[in-house]
Amino acid sequence: MRQRELFSTKTVQIAMTEYSKHIEILPNVHLVRGENAARFPEANTMLIDDEILTLVDAGSSLKNISSTLRDLNHEISDIQRIVLTHFHIDHKGYAADIQKIADCELICHPLAEEGVRTFQGLVELYGIEGHKYYDTWYAYISLRFGHVMGNYNVTGTLTDGKPISCGENDLIPIHLPGHTIDHTCFGINDLDTIFLTDIDLTNFGPWYGNKASDIEDFKKSVERVIDLQPKVGISSHLVDPVTNDIDERLRKFRGIFDEREKRILDNISNGIDTIDKLSQKPNIYPRIPRDVYFVFEMFMLEKHIEILKKDGMVVEENGHFKIEKS
Ligand SMILES: [Zn+2]
Repeated sequence: MRQRELFSTKTVQIAMTEYSKHIEILPNVHLVRGENAARFPEANTMLIDDEILTLVDAGSSLKNISSTLRDLNHEISDIQRIVLTHFHIDHKGYAADIQKIADCELICHPLAEEGVRTFQGLVELYGIEGHKYYDTWYAYISLRFGHVMGNYNVTGTLTDGKPISCGENDLIPIHLPGHTIDHTCFGINDLDTIFLTDIDLTNFGPWYGNKASDIEDFKKSVERVIDLQPKVGISSHLVDPVTNDIDERLRKFRGIFDEREKRILDNISNGIDTIDKLSQKPNIYPRIPRDVYFVFEMFMLEKHIEILKKDGMVVEENGHFKIEKS
């Protein structure tokens, strides 16, 4: 899940009108763009128009998926398989609705199968039941994401590194956890072109606001992609594939963890010394667009503080944080 509501209406309108719904990335491999420049709660989807008509994720609007299929002389009922990158609502998205029409396979990583299958499973991986903002979150999801609250029929799981054949094209799963425990990117035929999913190269940076998220794993995953040296990176939340300066973009994205950590340490030095107080400052989200985001800001802050305590840089006394003097 990403926060993508930071931009002015004018920017959004320009972005919405200036791109086509889909582009062909490789022969018969199409990027189906989300609405609103693919910002959360939208996300991009990949369509492999091959012997096995395959969608990777199902979070872009159904309208865009349908119109792309139509342009390629297909319809929703032709979809044979959906492969998910992870359990998040903007990725499993409309897969359950599509299954009702197409009765297609649904494949995900085994570590988050329950988070795909049921809404309760998703809530557990989010880890937010009982949180003071849980009711706010639930109300928001009910209002905006009714389509993710039912059951999904998971028909199989993927295996890290084992290609999923679509016919002429293969999807190569690369398990890159951190954003979530199951977060999986896909090389398309080889590792030159990678669907980077939520290693999304946005200016916002990495998101790790669930129980099933981990900062250290996320850093390692970004470093692994840097080592893979892809030529093309496709983000779930950018309109265009990244082809220029991809190494630099990945390093900048990796650097955002450290920038956030520095802001947190500075705030603690200035006496902003509890999670509640820190969550009122722009540590991770530049601003909190609605209360529901506090839950994720707090989760991400807690993960940073946990690491800072482990590294001996911060101590906690009676719920108050202090910088450990070396
Ligand atoms: Zn996500």
